[in-house]
Amino acid sequence: MSEPMSVERLRRDGEAFTQELSREFYLSLSGLKADAQIQPLYAKYKAIFTEESLDVAREMLAGSAEGSDDWRSARILLDWQVESQSGRQLAPLDEREIAWENDAVVRLADGREIPYQRVAIEMANSTGRAERAMMETARVGIVAQGLAPLKKERFQRERDITESVGIANGYNATWELLSGISLASLRQECEALLRDTQAMWDDVASSVVKRVLGMELRETTRADARALFRAREFDEFFPERDMETTIRRQVGEMGIDSDAGGHIIFDTGEREGKRSRAFCSPVKVPEEVYLVLRPHGGQTDWNTFLHEYGHALHFANMRPDLPMEFRFMGDNSVTEGFAMLFDHLMQDDGWLRRYTGLERKHTPGFLRSAGFEELHFLRRYCAKFIYETQLYGGEVSWDALPDLYVELLTKATTFQYAPADAFVDVDARFYSARYLRAWQHQALLTETLVERYDADWWRNPSCGPWMVESLFGEAQRELAHEQALRVTGKTLSFAPLIRSIERMLA
Ligand SMILES: [Zn+2]
Repeated sequence: MSEPMSVERLRRDGEAFTQELSREFYLSLSGLKADAQIQPLYAKYKAIFTEESLDVAREMLAGSAEGSDDWRSARILLDWQVESQSGRQLAPLDEREIAWENDAVVRLADGREIPYQRVAIEMANSTGRAERAMMETARVGIVAQGLAPLKKERFQRERDITESVGIANGYNATWELLSGISLASLRQECEALLRDTQAMWDDVASSVVKRVLGMELRETTRADARALFRAREFDEFFPERDMETTIRRQVGEMGIDSDAGGHIIFDTGEREGKRSRAFCSPVKVPEEVYLVLRPHGGQTDWNTFLHEYGHALHFANMRPDLPMEFRFMGDNSVTEGFAMLFDHLMQDDGWLRRYTGLERKHTPGFLRSAGFEELHFLRRYCAKFIYETQLYGGEVSWDALPDLYVELLTKATTFQYAPADAFVDVDARFYSARYLRAWQHQALLTETLVERYDADWWRNPSCGPWMVESLFGEAQRELAHEQALRVTGKTLSFAPLIRSIERMLA
């Protein structure tokens, strides 16, 4: 019991802990176990979440040469230690939020009651703008009273805890040091994207809003946006029955073993208690990776399956000799980039016609709608990320943040946002930065794959083996921008993404 803390022990016990945690999540979210027992795991492994373990990682970082693999390892291990410290202290607040979300009921002006968890779906399905407005007013009312103050406290605490570790001057500087990602440059890129695509957005959004909702763009709210982007007319071309076999066949056609030598376990049957959304659980990396899906059919299912399959192929093909921090941790922009590389096949005309029920006559309409959705989502994420740099940055007071949130999000999307969501609609620890960089990475990778393996790279048998060797095998040793430079010779940017959106909207 008195084994001293060391990097070796941190790795060995850290890997065992991560495996048990991941298995617990897999079993509970897939319906094989009633609920996840997380607290006992933290108790069992408490030795690796102490001041001492944090110091081991801190000393490793101080003692290794910048750019070396040891330095990469140390940065990731220290990031994990800092995250675990705040994660443990925030756990009671997180539990309170989950309980609120499970129990809250939205009471509408006409007397109807809707569980909070369902209200976004109800708004999306509602065809009347007056009804959507009534639901949005009621939702905003209970969020402002209940969830918003809990979330605000959570972010205040998270900022304080992280800053008290004393790694750098302030939350943002700490995050930059531990992630190796510059917030300021990404923020400038996001501001430029919002400027450069403003005219395109105004143009396409006003005509789509008029056609689909019969409204003027300037009078819409976020509730109307939900109705605008609800699952739609093309679902019949994405049958549940063919999804798994078709997509696995495609992966085989590009020269990748579709279950990575048995490493990927497809849990795709119907089961009571299984979450309705697909997810990927890397329990042992690379040899035991679960892809879980409760199939319903339709476009959204295909999209999520492709996304999670990208993650699964990445984890299941990682080199087993890499240290645990490169396999389980690191820059998630990389794994999200591969997940997006696969889910963006849903924007590839040739792929759609070969593997789905869509025919030549359908694809132009389908792609225009996909392009519009992509542009909206991207502009929303850029604005959200800019806002989050202010939330964590500490220069804007907590009380002034809701107005800033409304201003930034409404300007980017034209849909009217509500101040009540200012602490609810936030990706903790800048996960939005990982998504934005993943988006850039997948767009650059797609252009490079087309150059090297032709427009139908996704069925070129030389493409897959390269992908496994040069991308997946490397795990998350590199940051996304380093990997992009190594394999494409180019730097990450929004340019390829904007080119792809322009093509879809043409
Ligand atoms: Zn993902």
